[in-house]
Amino acid sequence: MIDFEISENIANMKNMVHMLAENMMRPAARKYDEEEHQKPLDFINMMWEDSKRRNRARFEASTKPKQEGKPEKPAENSVMFANVIEELSWGDCGLYLCIPGGLGVAAVEAVGTSDQKERFLRRFTEGEPKWGAMAITEANAGSDTAAITATAARDGDHWVLNGEKIFVTSGKAAVQDSEGFVVVWATLDRSAGRAGIKSFIVEHGTPGMTVTKLEKKLGIRASDTCTIVFEDCRIPLDNILGSSEVQKKDSTSGFKGVMATFDATRPMVAASAIGIGRAAIDFVKEEFEKQGVQIRYGISPYRMTAVERDVQQMEANLQAARLLTWRACWMMDRRMRNNLEASMAKAKAGLAITLVTQKAVELMGPLGYSRELLLEKWMRDGKINDLFEGTGQINMLIIARRILEYTREQLK
Ligand SMILES: Cc1cc2nc3c(=O)[nH]c(=O)nc-3n(C[C@H](O)[C@H](O)[C@H](O)COP(=O)(O)OP(=O)(O)OC[C@H]3O[C@@H](n4cnc5c(N)ncnc54)[C@H](O)[C@@H]3O)c2cc1C
Repeated sequence: MIDFEISENIANMKNMVHMLAENMMRPAARKYDEEEHQKPLDFINMMWEDSKRRNRARFEASTKPKQEGKPEKPAENSVMFANVIEELSWGDCGLYLCIPGGLGVAAVEAVGTSDQKERFLRRFTEGEPKWGAMAITEANAGSDTAAITATAARDGDHWVLNGEKIFVTSGKAAVQDSEGFVVVWATLDRSAGRAGIKSFIVEHGTPGMTVTKLEKKLGIRASDTCTIVFEDCRIPLDNILGSSEVQKKDSTSGFKGVMATFDATRPMVAASAIGIGRAAIDFVKEEFEKQGVQIRYGISPYRMTAVERDVQQMEANLQAARLLTWRACWMMDRRMRNNLEASMAKAKAGLAITLVTQKAVELMGPLGYSRELLLEKWMRDGKINDLFEGTGQINMLIIARRILEYTREQLK
């Protein structure tokens, strides 16, 4: 059965979050863009109350044992989450990225053991706001994660981590705020290539973990992005995500486990892009309406004006991205492997947001370029969705490899 409707539950949640986005996020968007790296405390505290409730549901869903033989009623947490993120990003993507939680949390949720989920996820259901960041990128290892040089070495009952990670989202909050943690990708054996790369959880307060630089950025300026240095950081042995075994024979199987995090996070990045794109389209249509320009739907392309064609192309791009995103989430909710679909959603949404926001600025002329309004900001903010969590080109490479059944070595 194919069903493109969202449930009543999701629709109600969407409406509620939309009100918050409109009344709390939009009015604060410009201020936190201008005051880069200023923590929006009121917003964070308010969102935390709501996040805790949502985290509880996610925690229960991710720790619930699968019942053999009994068909499970599929959850809708991921589809719900994507819809919530779309609304929040419609409000303001920079502020949305300040919400407690983070990619490190998604990593533990995707690949952590039940003990690790208990130790690192339960804390996100109670207490004060906290963050779990994800540190993969290095100066010479971004798209090419196999080039990671940060190291992890066993020393008795500990792993010892060394290296420098750049562009870590929510990194400062994760390092400095109590109960935060950073999931760090490091190699146990450089000679093993990808098979040697594992992820490790480094908790707030671990000696040797230091924030050394805050990044000044084009967009999502409210969001904290930083460099973190790890110098002889000692962490317990069971803070490794997945197996510590380095299987040189099948050099990709261990790495696939680490990469599984992206199957969960890429659709959410796509959802965020869709929210920003929708903000831009809504704005353009409202402006046209004020000027008495109606967009006519369902007429022959030969009779369309150039503006009508532009707006309908923008909407079609966004809707295609949304449907791909919902499909990737729908699969996740059914515990189906969605690696291909997650990359499709992310690649399409990254491209769509870039096209849509640039076209919106173009259609609005000086209104689009002026800092009086948010359109120029959406163009700056939107671009990040085509960069982080795998650039557009990298996601297209992944899609091509999967469809053509090529290995990484056959298609680089
Ligand atoms: C605001 C922000 C927040 C970020 N947050 C995080 C975070 O929380 N954690 C984290 O670990 N990282 C984070 N990053 C880093 C981000 O994931 C990387 O920048 C991204 O993966 C690209 O890597 P790179 O910068 O090394 O670029 P490169 O890999 O050097 O790529 C440069 C260009 O070359 C293209 N390219 C590279 N390889 C190929 C290829 N084989 N075929 C075709 N084209 C190719 C890329 O698509 C890109 O256009 C963040 C970045 C930014 C800007």
